[in-house]
Amino acid sequence: MTEQANVVEKKSNEGRDRACPGCGKLGVQVEVCSQPFLYGEGDRAVELTATVPLYSCSACGLQFLDRIGEERRHEAVCAYHGVLTPKQIRALRKKHRMSRSEFARATSLGEATLARWERGQLIQNQAYDRYLRLLQDNANFERVCLSANVPRSEPDAATIGPDLPRTTTIMTVKNFRSGLTRESFSPSLRSYTPLRRRA
Ligand SMILES: [Zn+2]
Repeated sequence: MTEQANVVEKKSNEGRDRACPGCGKLGVQVEVCSQPFLYGEGDRAVELTATVPLYSCSACGLQFLDRIGEERRHEAVCAYHGVLTPKQIRALRKKHRMSRSEFARATSLGEATLARWERGQLIQNQAYDRYLRLLQDNANFERVCLSANVPRSEPDAATIGPDLPRTTTIMTVKNFRSGLTRESFSPSLRSYTPLRRRA
């Protein structure tokens, strides 16, 4: 399967000051693209689509994504699983005005695990996702804090934002296991993901 990107929007000025991670030269072009990518391994692989800024080096032809592109792809994976995105989990914690360690103490979630969810290094399984959704409700959060004997401050009035619609662009699904998964395309969020070199 090719990683063919369809250009949504050209941005001629952005990226000009960015050095190519391949050859180090300046003058990288950026386009906002609707880009299909493979998620999962072998028979379980599915094709998802994310709208990402795609950088192209005019000197060496290297095309790559940056952190924003990685986040968009991760969000597409979350939408595919129907779980909250890292941004939504952060927003949930911030709505309750808690640091990561306070939130972990109140909810009995592991602080390191929470950090990995928030950074998009790990996707919460369905059970944890349901728990997080219940905690979006102030009264539920209050109950949890009471039982953990953790003081809580007034929740922020800010809303957490709408759920992402489940991805509808899946083209192939074969025996895909649900539950706890890692993104196969990105073991951790790196600054750059080389995609391909232009012929
Ligand atoms: Zn280059």
